[in-house]
Amino acid sequence: MNIQLDHHIWPMERDILFRPARMKYVRKLIKSNECVFCLSAKGKISLKTLCVYQTKHSQIVLNKYPYNSGHILVLPLNHVGSVFEFSDEAYLDLQRTLRLAMQAVNDIYQPAGFNIGMNHGATAGAGIPDHLHYHIVPRWHGDLNFFPLIAETKLVIESIDISYKRYQKYFKKIASTQKQRGKV
Ligand SMILES: [Zn+2]
Repeated sequence: MNIQLDHHIWPMERDILFRPARMKYVRKLIKSNECVFCLSAKGKISLKTLCVYQTKHSQIVLNKYPYNSGHILVLPLNHVGSVFEFSDEAYLDLQRTLRLAMQAVNDIYQPAGFNIGMNHGATAGAGIPDHLHYHIVPRWHGDLNFFPLIAETKLVIESIDISYKRYQKYFKKIASTQKQRGKV
């Protein structure tokens, strides 16, 4: 029973273990000179970087290869690979942003549940171990997320640009509300 539970909680590890083609992609990312998450931090909010929201310390970025519709990542702006390197302020900001991202997923996709997790370090299966990131994967009853294991087939439900537009619209509203509050 525990084994089955693990498969549901850690889709990324499962993918790495069972899909060698994806491992190639992950290795390529690790070898790249430019960290994609640093690029999204610098490039601000755009479809090109898949970043939809930024705070003083954190950012919310769409996963380019989602495990389910609406799969997003919450991570620091700075290139940090360990939670022990955070200041209290940056860590708190990251946790607040994680909850905000969960709220967004909930409001936009109304999932029945979430898988939230971080692979901390390369050994734990992190694709980009030097720039830590939480995964938020929305889950629905019968969404068959285990399907790639069986048939190398995957139900990817929504295109990345449609997901991006939905998140972008949502976070634009959040940002303008925050601005208004700041002026009061
Ligand atoms: Zn980075």
